[in-house]
Amino acid sequence: MKNCNEVKKVLISAQEIQIKVEDLAKNVTRDYAGKRPLVVGVLKGAWIFLADLLRKAELDLDVDFICVSSYGNRTYSSGKVDVLKDLTMECRGRDVLLVEDIIDSGITLSHIKELLFFHGAKSVEIAALLSKPSRRKVSIDVKYLGFEIPDEFVVGYGMDYQERFRTLKDICILNEEVYKR
Ligand code: 5GP
Repeated sequence: MKNCNEVKKVLISAQEIQIKVEDLAKNVTRDYAGKRPLVVGVLKGAWIFLADLLRKAELDLDVDFICVSSYGNRTYSSGKVDVLKDLTMECRGRDVLLVEDIIDSGITLSHIKELLFFHGAKSVEIAALLSKPSRRKVSIDVKYLGFEIPDEFVVGYGMDYQERFRTLKDICILNEEVYKR
């Protein structure tokens, strides 16, 4: 594994992730059959999850991305969500599937959901690979959830710490020393 000496523990293995994503893709395929959803990925953390999920789903769909920032270089949310890149496609009247890597306080997704309805989305459902329920500040309804995890900062499978570790295949917890640099 790359960056191996900086990883303390594998929390969820690549194989477990693939089994779960397969399962989620089946549910998404079933629920959106006959519709043409607009799938919106939240950059940057959701890009690998989105790519795997959509290649396993058998659907006619459109893809767009939104980029928001609420963490900066820290491991906790500032509580303020800035839209760095908005949608390029029209979402008015569309069934939107919002794809996110991880839900922590819930602030990011509730803000994006509000924005999508403001732009005229007909429906907005959420697919999130991970959730930390103990950290929730805003209640959020997740239709397609991969795993609930404890209150630990995780990296890999698209998720970063200071832009590093995104290409780790497993979801990992880092050694404390990494945060002291
Ligand atoms: P929330 O707004 O729910 O507090 O935060 C959601 C965003 O925070 C996620 O999209 C993700 O970018 C980031 N985030 C929350 N927890 C973690 C974590 O454990 N690891 C990483 N890499 N990002 C996280």
